Amino acid sequence: MHFDEYVGKTIFVTGAASGIGQAQAIAFVKQGANVVGMDLDEVGLVNTAKKTNDSNGRFTAFTGDVTKTSDIIVAVKKANKLFGAIDILLNTAGILDDYTPTLETSETLWDRVLAVNLKGIFLVTNHILPQMLSQKYGVIINMASIAGMVAGGGGAAYTASKHAIIGYTKQLDHDYIKQGIRANAIAPGAIKTPMNAADFAGDGKMAEWVEKETPAGRWAKPEEVASLTLFLASKQADYIHGTVMTIDGGWLEK
Ligand code: NAD
Repeated sequence: MHFDEYVGKTIFVTGAASGIGQAQAIAFVKQGANVVGMDLDEVGLVNTAKKTNDSNGRFTAFTGDVTKTSDIIVAVKKANKLFGAIDILLNTAGILDDYTPTLETSETLWDRVLAVNLKGIFLVTNHILPQMLSQKYGVIINMASIAGMVAGGGGAAYTASKHAIIGYTKQLDHDYIKQGIRANAIAPGAIKTPMNAADFAGDGKMAEWVEKETPAGRWAKPEEVASLTLFLASKQADYIHGTVMTIDGGWLEK
């Protein structure tokens, strides 16, 4: 898949040190875009930089927390200084709650999951949207999940956060569509990333169960979500607004 339009564009990706965010960062660098990856995991970001295999300085990493305004301000300034205004924002950072039901969810767990998965998207978006509005162009893609549409893909906090991301994305698009902004969400099903390492641990029975329950009969690679992102962020997808694109091997068709 090749998109000429990404050459020289500036992409800001949260969660870029691992899994889906890493695959997205690599995919956009390969298209000739300039990518700033933000993540808590410094070592993982170094690894992403290596994997881009790029010698033109198209990938820059910033170690920071999406729940901290001060970190976001520094990261966005760095992105602007190096590459100019941000054209595409990929809000991908997220954490699981280990399928914890509400009665076993501590206030600390609830607050952290909602802070990273939902408030992080709100904060990063609010620090980048003004420059998108100034240039009357911007694409925002928020990482939801099938847990944003049905129960069973997470626990109380994770499922609540992912449902909320979908609502936030629709409202975001609704409020700024006339000013050149296009916002959508992606809802992945079973994607094999470090987030799901526990499913593959031990006898791997959980991973096997997921495979059997998924109509397509397999886990997907993070690169498959990155490919969908390349399309969804492109001009080819210009009429796609405020929606959720599932990539779940048929999980929701049941
Ligand atoms: P992952 O654990 O491999 O990557 C998540 C990244 O987010 C990590 O590098 C982590 O360090 C980073 N991160 C966590 N908290 C952060 C914070 N406060 N600030 C900055 N970075 C932070 O997971 P993944 O599977 O690649 O998941 C990426 C996104 O996709 C998440 O939002 C997740 O909920 C969503 N998702 C994943 C799956 C799946 O099956 N893997 C399915 C549906 C949705």
